[in-house]
Amino acid sequence: MQEKYCYFNGAIVKVEEAKVSAFDIGLLRGFGVYEAMAGFNGNIFRFSDHWNRFVDSAHTLSLNIPITEEKAEKVIKELLVKNGHDQDRANIKFILTGGTATSSLEFNFETPTFYIFTEECAKIPQEIYDNGGKLITYNYKRELPKIKTINYITAVNLQNWRKEEKAIEVLYTYDGEIYECAASNIFLVKDGVLITPGEDVLLGITRKVTLEVAREAGLEIEERRVLESELQTADEVFITSSFKDIVPIVEVDDFKIGDGKIGSITKDLMERFVKLT
Ligand code: PLP
Repeated sequence: MQEKYCYFNGAIVKVEEAKVSAFDIGLLRGFGVYEAMAGFNGNIFRFSDHWNRFVDSAHTLSLNIPITEEKAEKVIKELLVKNGHDQDRANIKFILTGGTATSSLEFNFETPTFYIFTEECAKIPQEIYDNGGKLITYNYKRELPKIKTINYITAVNLQNWRKEEKAIEVLYTYDGEIYECAASNIFLVKDGVLITPGEDVLLGITRKVTLEVAREAGLEIEERRVLESELQTADEVFITSSFKDIVPIVEVDDFKIGDGKIGSITKDLMERFVKLT
């Protein structure tokens, strides 16, 4: 087995050597942020967009980022090579917490915990890209939805149910509106218009690129609050995320989307997106 490395508090080390304190405020209080991006053959997809969102997340929690953008990019590229992830698709993750807690609810700004690691991408089955997948809905709205915190309690808790239901993702709905999935954004197509929730969701980088591609394709776009009832009458639905790109959806809970087949706009956007990766 090839030795795996990560970047941990300032140095590249073997993963077994990366050890977080039992008193880290990320562990004790769930206080930290996270960033996730894809590597394609050793290149990072939309690194500056991810970096900017990471900075926003960190600032929202008043966390100190102990690395520059240039250094982080260099370190990731080195890790991709060292971990043998430079010939294929890979997942890249940042974790930043307040570091060792200095009291029950406090930490020292000067000593954050920060690490970067890379993983093989656990691809979802090709069959889902070819024929479409299913979503199930759950009544929930994320705390601090604009940023990526390390709190995925609800998302983790829902995974057994998701698997039992043979769903590809869980869609969060709240007070009659749809927001985002556990780790993806959602899009609807109705009468040729591309619609996506624009408030109280993580502004995903894949969502951003999809909107760019849709603009190039000349599609009309609406970023706005979206009612749950609009899902039932949508012609097409798809979800987006860094680890999955664009995934067509043909079923939500117990109803079919449109005619139950992947729509032409979704197909077109998938083809355009894939060319960029
Ligand atoms: N929404 C949530 C809650 C997420 O966790 C993610 C990604 O993990 C997304 C949306 C999609 O964001 P991105 O396209 O930047 O991966």
